[in-house]
Amino acid sequence: MHAGRHPADFGGVVNTPVVRASTVLYPDIGAYERSRASKFGALRYGRYGTQTSFALAEAMAEIEGADGAVLYPSGLAAIAGVLKSLLNPGDHLLVTDAVYGPARNFCETELRRNGIDVTFFAPGIGASIGDLVRPQTRVVYCESPGSLTFEVQDIPAIVAACRSPDIAVVVDNTWATPFFHRPLDLGADVAIHAATKYIVGHSDAMLGVAVANERHLPRIRDWAAGHGILAGPDECWLALRGLRSLGARLRQHQESAKTIAGSLKGHPAVERVLYPALDTDSAHTIWSRDFSGATGLFGVELVNTSPDMVRAFIDSLDLFGIGSSWGGFESLILPSIPVRTASEPHWKGPLLRLHIGLEDPDDLLDDLQRGLDVLHEANCHDERKRNVQHR
Ligand SMILES: *Cc1c(COP(=O)(O)O)cnc(C)c1O
Repeated sequence: MHAGRHPADFGGVVNTPVVRASTVLYPDIGAYERSRASKFGALRYGRYGTQTSFALAEAMAEIEGADGAVLYPSGLAAIAGVLKSLLNPGDHLLVTDAVYGPARNFCETELRRNGIDVTFFAPGIGASIGDLVRPQTRVVYCESPGSLTFEVQDIPAIVAACRSPDIAVVVDNTWATPFFHRPLDLGADVAIHAATKYIVGHSDAMLGVAVANERHLPRIRDWAAGHGILAGPDECWLALRGLRSLGARLRQHQESAKTIAGSLKGHPAVERVLYPALDTDSAHTIWSRDFSGATGLFGVELVNTSPDMVRAFIDSLDLFGIGSSWGGFESLILPSIPVRTASEPHWKGPLLRLHIGLEDPDDLLDDLQRGLDVLHEANCHDERKRNVQHR
């Protein structure tokens, strides 16, 4: 509620205003010369940010328990920026096999093209990650839980197995947000956010954040500044506004998602629900130890059915939007097709990804149940047809 707020600096107004600037004027040349000594966090030239972005960076660092934050124009830009700043040609990178698709693509194309060796590891690897560490390993990149398949990574075990001043453990913390999970408290060096999701929270801005400890912050910050990367003041203002209701929103996302995930688990058209907050989930133990809550995004594995029936089910829903991203107030659904190169898929049937928004959970559940009942009927009908053909 209070992080990054300085009402006294703005005549008492509650929220830091949107400060738009390129040129900043100085009273005299001496003041201009002195301003060049302070590179970050002071108003100097628009490309280095204004009070609006300083307020957001300050708030994000504080709530993540980090030494500083760097802002980017999107979550993907934060991932790319952190990896580029910490890796040089000849270095080795370890990446979870459950990583967000565009991040995987960045590692496999841009990073490999720049002479960085990339190895993917099974998300459940834990302490065995030590077997994959080489003298050239500089970054271990985790995403917990994986945003399509929801495996929770054992960050403390990974940190312990990779304990070396040369290796940075980076965690994409978009799903949980610092409200429910603080990777730096568990020994990670850097946490990354697609603030586009829950932090902005209303599906109307793109924004990325990286927070880091003292050891890694300067490289990450200098790389971003040196590449002219910044986040616009309007986006930062929307994220600051989002932060003020983050806790209240997430408690509701969690409550509704738990109710809905629990109900879907018993439906005959559903094989499994991938949601660490369910005590039947294989990730539940580590999640309970390291997270203080769960957000509104989870996976559903359907019992085997045709792609056309999955599409008909999605189209039959009234309250679930069809579209990329998540973390807003609205519920969303998409089919998901995770890529695995280093670990066996632990699902067989078609996968869906649901974002449970802030609508009435009973309405959402009715909508889903109606669609799943139709899907189950169609599955049974298909089964009967196949049996007749067999005979
Ligand atoms: C959406 C997402 C990103 C990318 O964020 P954008 O702001 O869309 O670029 C990164 N990581 C995870 C886990 C995401 O879900």
